Amino acid sequence: MTEPVLLWLRQDLRLHDQPALLAAARSGPVIPVYVLDDESAGDWRIGGAQRWYLHHALEALAASLEAMGSRLILRRGDAVTVLRALLEETGAAAIHAIRHYEPWWRSAEAALSDALYLHDGNHLARIEDLTTGAGTPFRVYSSFWKALSQRMPPDAPLPAPNTLAAPAKWPGSDVLADWGLLPKRDWAKAFDAAWTAGEAAARNAVDAFAGQVAAYDTDRNLPSVEGSSRLSPHLHFGEVSPRQVWHALSGLGEGVQTFRKELAWRDFTDGVVTALPDYGDRNGRPKFDSLWRDGADAQRDLKAWQTGRTGYPIVDAGMRQLWTIGWMHNRVRMITASFLIKHLLLDWRWGERWFWDCLVDADYGNNSVNWQWVAGTGVDANMFGRIMAPLTQSEKFDAGGYIRHWVPELGGLSDAVIHDPEAGGCRPRGYPVKIIGHREARERALAAAARMR
Ligand code: FAD
Repeated sequence: MTEPVLLWLRQDLRLHDQPALLAAARSGPVIPVYVLDDESAGDWRIGGAQRWYLHHALEALAASLEAMGSRLILRRGDAVTVLRALLEETGAAAIHAIRHYEPWWRSAEAALSDALYLHDGNHLARIEDLTTGAGTPFRVYSSFWKALSQRMPPDAPLPAPNTLAAPAKWPGSDVLADWGLLPKRDWAKAFDAAWTAGEAAARNAVDAFAGQVAAYDTDRNLPSVEGSSRLSPHLHFGEVSPRQVWHALSGLGEGVQTFRKELAWRDFTDGVVTALPDYGDRNGRPKFDSLWRDGADAQRDLKAWQTGRTGYPIVDAGMRQLWTIGWMHNRVRMITASFLIKHLLLDWRWGERWFWDCLVDADYGNNSVNWQWVAGTGVDANMFGRIMAPLTQSEKFDAGGYIRHWVPELGGLSDAVIHDPEAGGCRPRGYPVKIIGHREARERALAAAARMR
């Protein structure tokens, strides 16, 4: 019998449009493997909310593989060591995998290069092909989009293999429940209603969004309207590929173009972290290294932000949405991030880490590039001095429904005062006073930035 091959699954947990799976299936018996690697990513190991999601995603994938007469082998440890041991144990001839761009995955891929066949499949185009005229990765999104558009549409999605040959002998597998991915204290109880993991659920989410995408252009900015796709955890874990999403929404009107432009941000951010692998840990512009507050007061303010108790209803609503369902609306991610960085003058990396632990869609490229973009510390053209006014943002984008939902103690307030109950003289007992006034915060941030120069 032909030697088996390993299919190394990471953030590509699907059977359709999975080029590594198809290549493996063509070459002989396939042993699909998922390695829970908390070692090689260091501080960037999978966060709490994503562990919840991952548990369910792996359960769904294992069921799909079993329906094809295959299995999902689970192992834990440093991925390179585990895969080398599995090659030895199973006599497998090679490993097939989809290419990833997180720095720890790139190191692992390099360390396995003698046995590893890498395939592209998690992006709209090959990241390495999208460079400026000078051959360097794009740092500004608009130019990136221009270059990417010229390569679109992406290739048509590939079908799932019809069959998957099983090896003569299956290697042993860990038991998913033993990994303890689900929290012991049930802080994730609202996640169940908010998310269904798995490839079938991802496809349903794309179908549901097809009915809404025409209005995406306007609705995506309104946090109380379900106007965006909520595909982010599905895309992060690769339960659906971006080219499947692209093609599924073809011909559905103007909103699709705006949506595709957002979808393409994933490709852009992976280009940035390919060029600058420590972008999640370091200011793109080093002069910002000394800007941030520190000490007990700073920690107290961080806690108020994390727990949604800043006295700014739109910020508090966002932070509570994040904690409760592991996701936050994009507009509010910008408002809350800007508030942490500029109003509280706290290091964006503190916020980035909190998001990493709380988001079901936490993604190294997307998270770090967006945080540095909001901060104005990055390689793009955004400026630290552009300071978002949270109350103006709140009035502009929320008719009040979002705040009422996530900050129930403000639920009885009228539209006129809900954005700033303190100024309206009707702050309910128990709801905090503003942690800092907007003008004072703005002046403090600008003064600190001026000193830095
Ligand atoms: P839609 O509007 O429906 O967009 C479709 C898809 O396009 C998203 O699922 C996502 O994959 C991609 N996308 C959209 N906007 C962006 C963007 N600005 N940057 C990168 N990809 C984008 N997104 C993550 O997936 N993971 C993160 O860790 C993450 N951290 C963020 C941190 C901050 C401070 C900010 C401001 C944004 C962050 N984003 C992150 C980007 C964006 O907020 C989310 O992708 C989006 O809110 C997910 O909801 P959706 O699927 O309904 O988005």
